[in-house]
Amino acid sequence: MTKLTTYEIDIVKSDTSKINAVDFDNLIFGRIFTDHMFICDFENNAWQTPRIIPYQAMTLDPSARVFHYGQAVFEGMKAYKDDDGKLWMFRPEDNFNRINKSAARLAMPEFPKEYFFEGITKLLQMDSEWVKPGKGNSLYLRPFIIATDPAISASPSSNYRFMIICSPAKAYYSDKIKVLVAEKFSRSANGGVGFAKAAGNYAAQFYPTSLAQKRGFQQIIWTDADTHEKLEEAGTMNVFFRVNDALITAPVSDRILDGVTRKSIIQLAEDNGIDVEIRPITVTELKKASRNGSLKEIFGTGTAAVISPISAFEHAEELFELPNIENSYADTLKDKMLNIQHNLAEDKHGWRYEVKS
Ligand code: PMP
Repeated sequence: MTKLTTYEIDIVKSDTSKINAVDFDNLIFGRIFTDHMFICDFENNAWQTPRIIPYQAMTLDPSARVFHYGQAVFEGMKAYKDDDGKLWMFRPEDNFNRINKSAARLAMPEFPKEYFFEGITKLLQMDSEWVKPGKGNSLYLRPFIIATDPAISASPSSNYRFMIICSPAKAYYSDKIKVLVAEKFSRSANGGVGFAKAAGNYAAQFYPTSLAQKRGFQQIIWTDADTHEKLEEAGTMNVFFRVNDALITAPVSDRILDGVTRKSIIQLAEDNGIDVEIRPITVTELKKASRNGSLKEIFGTGTAAVISPISAFEHAEELFELPNIENSYADTLKDKMLNIQHNLAEDKHGWRYEVKS
């Protein structure tokens, strides 16, 4: 291994690459990781010198607090390569701000902006071969912070580890999904951590989602914990409803994640003359719109798939099917987003961020 040191980051480069063993045409999301990873430890009240080292397993004390109290937050973002070989990210500052918002809610120290951007940039430069060009192809980036104190008292850790790992992702042409509207389980609560990308939020979703999956639904539409009337998120996506020509989505709150895709889709819809209503929408309103034919589309938005169209939803044991429509908002807006992300369209809001080589 060659040890290099840059101005900010200690780098140990892998002598070999795993890339030739990877079948990029048949990637399963999140299973394969690139050659390097970024690590920065928080010790003695300060973030220490960041490191990039070969991707590898690591050792943590069994008492590390992350294992016991779930003090962990993460992000999900992507890098893209255009046909000229230039590397881009999409609104990375929003992910940076959000991981620190999540960290603050979990009583964790905020991560410095220069380390975040220098870390990602250097890591992407080193593993740039892993980012394949082509619309929809990307490198999924997973920054995360875990509590590493070897002590099982139920209080915040003094030591933390920030890391970034990267996983190649293929163009994601998903089938439409069928969803179940939550009537009993909740994803988040007022005053809770729903707005944060806290690891435990996801663990708590697995059981209700697996029950729904046994019944043939791919995801749950989460409703507010008090009344189960307000429609809030779809699985791990924000959710939009098209009633006639208007696009409706719930306002973000302490129960709803402030999705980067959500706010970009709102902006793109408005740019294209679509009437966007950011307001609570209820199950009663949705069922009525479905019955009278004004409900045209439902779709989820998130970094992984950009937009996932929904074909049907069930509530109170009644199935409501969505119509098949041409020129759907889902298709149009997804295409517009992908074109911006892949440097194939004008970026009038300055969302693209070039990763300089
Ligand atoms: N809601 C939840 C609960 C999520 O985990 C995600 C994925 N980060 C989203 C919405 C979509 O957010 P984004 O568009 O920033 O990926």
